[in-house]
Amino acid sequence: MIVIKNKVDKAYNHEPKRKYITLVIIITIFLIIEFIFYYNYFNYRVFVNDKPLMISRFATLHDAIKKSGIKVEPGDFVDIENKVIEKGKGGPIKYFIDFKNVSGKSKVKRMAEIFVVNGIDRMEPQEKIIIQIPFKYNIIGEGPYYEITRKGKLGRKLVNQGIISKKTKDEVILEEKVDCIIIKKRSKKDRMIALTFDDGPHKKYTPQILDILSDKKVRANFFVLGINAERNPELLKRIIKEGHMIANHSFSHTYLTKMNPEQIKGEIERTSQIVKKATGKGTTWLRPPGGSVDQKVINVAQLTKHRIIKWTVDPQDWRQSNHNILVSKIINTNSSGSIILLHDGGGNRQATVKALPTLIDKLLEEGYQLVTVDMMFSK
Ligand SMILES: [Zn+2]
Repeated sequence: MIVIKNKVDKAYNHEPKRKYITLVIIITIFLIIEFIFYYNYFNYRVFVNDKPLMISRFATLHDAIKKSGIKVEPGDFVDIENKVIEKGKGGPIKYFIDFKNVSGKSKVKRMAEIFVVNGIDRMEPQEKIIIQIPFKYNIIGEGPYYEITRKGKLGRKLVNQGIISKKTKDEVILEEKVDCIIIKKRSKKDRMIALTFDDGPHKKYTPQILDILSDKKVRANFFVLGINAERNPELLKRIIKEGHMIANHSFSHTYLTKMNPEQIKGEIERTSQIVKKATGKGTTWLRPPGGSVDQKVINVAQLTKHRIIKWTVDPQDWRQSNHNILVSKIINTNSSGSIILLHDGGGNRQATVKALPTLIDKLLEEGYQLVTVDMMFSK
């Protein structure tokens, strides 16, 4: 009996251990099931731009997209050339759930198919306007006279212009431009030479020069500065009376290329008016100070009806104190059609005055006729 009892006892002793293990297993399985159940209850499987993703059941569309790592941005506010004016100020990001356009705050259902795309750019407003097409200046040849052989003409085109950026595109030519052609010419007239005196008139030197010219019975050209002409109207009158030519050398001797068109116009017109007031006739030839010419100067000269003339011989008389050297410098470089640059104003011109009689005699001896620029380029 005792043995049996012992056996029963032993058997009974194993029973709770097994039960305990079983219980643990059951609980574990239960917990796993619970976990799976709750995980699936609290998390959704969705698709963002076709990629599967688990999200919390409380997540919004925004949260889902953030978790997916997909980078999306609103559109930009762009100009007519698609350059950004203001970032993020274009169309909003677009969200779709199951192909329906929704807001970013929308709730997401299990197995939802989410699509998210960048916002589209918004372009600045545009208007159609007509603008001018500038023409080019084609300058060819070698010579002192800038002859305009074909006038330039602005073209016109219809364009779309961005109201904010002012940039233009989509051109439709309404009228083609015509480029200006200028031929730099030298006079082809035989044995003609023009003596030109710049920067005057000068109270002291101009009358001396006029006396010599009168004595030798030759003509010359005076490229006056308005600022000096204004103070010497009597000299202007005398120059014209004695058969010479007065031309325009600007008002203040500022380089015209450094000025804007309005200022250039002022320099030329003011001087011409001073000459006209004294002599009855305005100027028609222009020698820009320093011979400095660009397209702007050519354009204004054309507008003010002036022809541009430079020079062919520059003996640099303003540097020279020895009149003999000055004469030989000119004679050696001189030839038919020469425009000789001398000065009657702007400094001590004693050497120029002193060189003049000999210079004229030598030129006349060589058979040259001393003329005005007008005569040299008349047709
Ligand atoms: Zn000058």
